[in-house]
Amino acid sequence: MEIVHTPHAMTAWAQEQRHSGRRIGLVPTMGYLHAGHLSLVDEAKKNADAVAVSIFVNPTQFGPNEDFASYPRNAACDVALCREADVAAVFLPAPETMYAPDASVFVDEDVLCHGLCGASRPGHFKGVCTVVAKLFNIVLPDVAVFGQKDFQQAAIIRRMVRDLNFPVSIIIAPTLREPDGLAMSSRNAYLSTEERRQAVGLSRALDALMEGMPPSGTVLRHRMRDILEQHGLRVDYAEIVDAETLTPVEKISKGNVALIAAYCGTTRLIDNRVL
Ligand code: AMP
Repeated sequence: MEIVHTPHAMTAWAQEQRHSGRRIGLVPTMGYLHAGHLSLVDEAKKNADAVAVSIFVNPTQFGPNEDFASYPRNAACDVALCREADVAAVFLPAPETMYAPDASVFVDEDVLCHGLCGASRPGHFKGVCTVVAKLFNIVLPDVAVFGQKDFQQAAIIRRMVRDLNFPVSIIIAPTLREPDGLAMSSRNAYLSTEERRQAVGLSRALDALMEGMPPSGTVLRHRMRDILEQHGLRVDYAEIVDAETLTPVEKISKGNVALIAAYCGTTRLIDNRVL
C-alpha cells in the first residue's frame, strides 16, 4: 500500500494506475476511521481496481467556533486499518500542500446548501465542495463513494458532479450503526458515558417515524423533536424533505427523507432515514 503525502505524488500514482488500465475508486474521509468508513472502502473495491482513501481534516469546512483543532486524529491507526482493508493508496496530505496561502477559487453550490446543516454551519458546504473537487482533480477517480450518513453532503456532491461535469460516478452507501442504532461517527469519540446513552435518541426518533402511517410533515417533525428532547438532546433541526430538492414537505410520500441534527452535550450529531 502506498502512503502519499502530496497532491503531486498522488496524481502521479493515479496516472500510473490509469495508464495500467486500472479503474480508481476514491473514498474521501477526515480519518479516525471506523467500520462505516471501511464499508465505503468495500463498496469502492466492488466498483474499482485500485482504491484510494484520502484522510484530510479539511480546515475550510469548519467554522471559526467549530471543532477543527480538537477533531479526533490517529493517522497510524487509520493507515493500519487501510492496509488491512487492502486499500491501494492512502492520501494523507498536510494542509499546506492542499491550499496555497492566497487560495482564492472555491466551489460553492447555491441552492441545496442553505437549509439543514448549511443553516447552522455557514460556509461548511463551500469547504466540502472545494475539497472534494480538489480531491477529484488530484486522485482522478472513476468512482467515488460517500455515505448516506451525510445525506445533504451526498446530495450536494451529486449536484456538483452534475453541474460541473466531473467524469466521476458517485455511489452513496448505507449508514453503518452501533448495535443500539447510533450511527457510527468519528465524533462519537467525544461522548461521555451519559451522553453516549442519550445519543441513541437520534435513531430512536427516526425509528418512531415508521410507527403507523405518517400523517403529515408537521406531526412527524413534532414526533421527532419530542423523542430527541425526551433523551436529553438539544434539537438543531428535525426535518422531512424531498430527497432531491431538500425542501420541506408536508404531505409525506415514499422516498422523502427525515433528517436530524441534535446536540448531545456540546457534540453535534446527525442522522437521517429515507421513508
Ligand atoms: P467523515 O470522515 O466523517 O468526513 O466521513 C467520510 C465519509 O464516510 C463520508 O462520505 C461519510 O458520509 C461516510 N460515513 C461517515 N459515517 C458513516 C457511517 N456510519 N456509515 C457509512 N458511512 C459513513
